[in-house]
Amino acid sequence: MSFASLGLIDPLCRTLDAIGYPSPTPVQTQAIPAVLAKRDVMAAAQTGTGKTAGFALPLLQRLTMEGPQVASNSVRVLVLVPTRELAEQVHESFKTYGASLPLRTAVAYGGVSINPQMMKLRKGLDLLVATPGRLLDLYRQNAVKFNQLQTLVLDEADRMLDLGFSRELDAVFAALPKQRQTLLFSATFSDEIRAMAGKLLADPLSIEVSPRNTTVQKIRQWVVPVDKKRKPELFLHLLAKKRWSQVLVFVKTRRGVEQLVDILAEHGVAADSIHGDKPQPARLRALDSFKAGQCRILVATDVAARGLDIDDLPVVVNFDLPIVAEDYIHRTGRTGRAGNAGEAVSLVCADEVTLLAAIEVLTKQTLQRIEEADFSPEHRVPVTNTAGEIVKKPKKPKKPKTVGEVSNVDVRFARRP
Ligand code: AMP
Repeated sequence: MSFASLGLIDPLCRTLDAIGYPSPTPVQTQAIPAVLAKRDVMAAAQTGTGKTAGFALPLLQRLTMEGPQVASNSVRVLVLVPTRELAEQVHESFKTYGASLPLRTAVAYGGVSINPQMMKLRKGLDLLVATPGRLLDLYRQNAVKFNQLQTLVLDEADRMLDLGFSRELDAVFAALPKQRQTLLFSATFSDEIRAMAGKLLADPLSIEVSPRNTTVQKIRQWVVPVDKKRKPELFLHLLAKKRWSQVLVFVKTRRGVEQLVDILAEHGVAADSIHGDKPQPARLRALDSFKAGQCRILVATDVAARGLDIDDLPVVVNFDLPIVAEDYIHRTGRTGRAGNAGEAVSLVCADEVTLLAAIEVLTKQTLQRIEEADFSPEHRVPVTNTAGEIVKKPKKPKKPKTVGEVSNVDVRFARRP
């Protein structure tokens, strides 16, 4: 299957050739013809499947074929994304794929001055990538108009709802023309997302390229049980032992991120960080230097779980398990991208057993536990199963065993390798 056979025009095919995309991924094979034919699409495609190009390529083609006719302050295609990082990345993808096309595109998100964004909008845009809050600010200040809007893309729709953008989204939907194409991409499909899709989409093509709520199969995932206070020490030990070339480390809180960065520095290990308290330029700098391979360790809160696309990132470490089980899938999806192998290691303490159980239910697997010598926890992490049950140690039999009687197995240790 070639990109040309999906109906993509020569300039796009040549660009794809130049950037080394040999053939379309499954999500692209299905999405590209449908988007070109102006159909609505609802895609359950997890990160790393090539979904961005799945909507970007056909939209760039349509914008080009229909010719530049945009009025001032108007936009023809609007792409909504949950985070600033994802906004930058999706916009970069549009710029890369559309390098040879005469289109005007821009990106808008909060946390930075609104004026340059207003200036860019003044002449009108073929395509705008935006986060919902800033888009509404622009709309309320009459900096953006939707009367020429043809297509709305909701990327990582589940994450937008998780981040509490539901009201902003409703306000945006109310401002858009009813006659339009809508494309909805989501890694997971909750009832809320399905309800939103039901409201927004007309006769959509449903695409599901990998089983719902599962992590990428190629990623080797395991858990190292450890006492909470020994996590930093264990991380340093694994870093030295495994000789990981680059690691993305997820920590639950902003404070936790900075504490880990400080501990690593005390041990002579340089690490950068991104979290919501950092100013946007500093976040982008840290991301760029990690992507360029100049920084070996990036410690982040879940703000970075979306939008980070790094070629060949070998390892993701969950220093803390995420509070929301779906975030495990997004964090893990930072490695093993576009068919590469990857590893996801979770350092789990006894307190986190219910979070572990929730992840195992969602991903329908029991994560393998591999203890590290010298790090066996004093507070054992109870064994869990894929039904979300914490398998408790059975009570000791009261009467002494007689020969031939089956003994009660301590299941807490039964599965450990
Ligand atoms: P996404 O799921 O959109 O975040 O894309 C994941 C990664 O796959 C990105 O690094 C893309 O550059 C890459 N990619 C997308 N489509 C292709 C393709 N057809 N062939 C090779 N790599 C691709």
